[in-house]
Amino acid sequence: MTTAQLTSPYQHYVYAYPHKTAYRPLSGRPALRSLWAAQDKSALALYLHIPFCEVRCGFCNLFTRIGAPDGLTGAYLDALERQAVAVREALGEDGPVRFATAAFGGGTPTFLTAPELERLCDIAERRMGADLRAVPLSVESSPATATADRLAVLAERGTTRLSLGVQSFVDSEARAAVRPQRRADVESALARIRDTAIPVLNIDLIYGIDGQTERSWLASLDAALAWRPEELYLYPLYVRPLTGLDRHRAAADGPDPAWDAQRLSLYRAGRDHLLAHGYGQQSMRMFRRADAPPQGADDYACQSDGMIGLGCGARSYTSGLHYSFDYAVGMHEIRGIIDDYVATSDFARAEVGYAVDAHEARRRHLLQSLLQAEGLPVADYRARFGTAPLDDFGPELGRMADRGWLTQADPARLRLTAEGLAHSDAVGPDLFSPAVRAAMAAYERK
Ligand code: SF4
Repeated sequence: MTTAQLTSPYQHYVYAYPHKTAYRPLSGRPALRSLWAAQDKSALALYLHIPFCEVRCGFCNLFTRIGAPDGLTGAYLDALERQAVAVREALGEDGPVRFATAAFGGGTPTFLTAPELERLCDIAERRMGADLRAVPLSVESSPATATADRLAVLAERGTTRLSLGVQSFVDSEARAAVRPQRRADVESALARIRDTAIPVLNIDLIYGIDGQTERSWLASLDAALAWRPEELYLYPLYVRPLTGLDRHRAAADGPDPAWDAQRLSLYRAGRDHLLAHGYGQQSMRMFRRADAPPQGADDYACQSDGMIGLGCGARSYTSGLHYSFDYAVGMHEIRGIIDDYVATSDFARAEVGYAVDAHEARRRHLLQSLLQAEGLPVADYRARFGTAPLDDFGPELGRMADRGWLTQADPARLRLTAEGLAHSDAVGPDLFSPAVRAAMAAYERK
């Protein structure tokens, strides 16, 4: 990692470690039954991935395609059901198999029609055995697809959290981020969501858009706050290779100190605004209203290893292996991967992945805890691994402390300072192992 990279606050959003670009085809395509045989399956997370959107936002590098021609969503759900049957069978009947959380993500799960959403819930319940009404169920949506009929299905089936990608309440900024939408439509969607009985509303907003000022950013935040969302995620804009914005902006990978400074300053303004309005900061991006109902496990903070992902963009985690299907950002390749998925009949094996050895498991635990505002209780780490974080990651933690990013206040807890939290997207990548870094660098973008 170069000095220039280290000083840029915006290197990589670490929402999962290792990143999918480190995954590789698995030799021998191991059988899921053997991968899951010795795992604790008593509190699994279930994730269903719907890779369809009405538009492709300019900043988005998620695994999703625009539209779904010729009954593709129905065929996709057929494949999802085949996969669910195969995976549930692979989990076996030897011990308890229970799901503690569930989430529908994408893409845009509400791209599906209301009857298709019913079917999606049926797959989770009847094929996988998840009790959706008894566990936290989070669903992502967009203003145009958050229609009353879909929301009614989701509420009735047990959705506890609805996350709406708004990005900006200023129409010109939404256009600049290549997410054309009208504020009036966003407000209507929020009214519909508030009319349903879903307890937690999350609103996603983005800062660092061309033409955005502190004033317009705070105006967007105030427009969001008017709905008293239980959660807000504030995302710095990234221009990533092969995305829509990448085609408009030259040198996407090069340093851009002025843009870094703009994003950092908008981050601080946004954070301070939310803290002043009764929100607590959970991580660099996430803010929760102080009086919001508790949500149970946060999937980004979750240290558990057991996750079942269904759908062609979903990851699954055992304690020793993270696996998924092929990954791409380019539209042509994504379409090909979805078409292959829809034509698949054998879902009993893992295709691509990354083996998480004991050392990577320590890194992952450190990384995912440290990027939360509450930090890492040293005793938890010691109980799990038998060592202290400083024994295993002395040089990395030393670098952070030298930069003023690590508080020294409480020896029982490793915690980022306010500046450390602001630099989460530099802190995270600095903790990647050399092997993961090399695999990510060798990944051929497609
Ligand atoms: S940001 Fe969300 S709505 Fe936009 S293209 Fe990506 S997944 Fe779809």
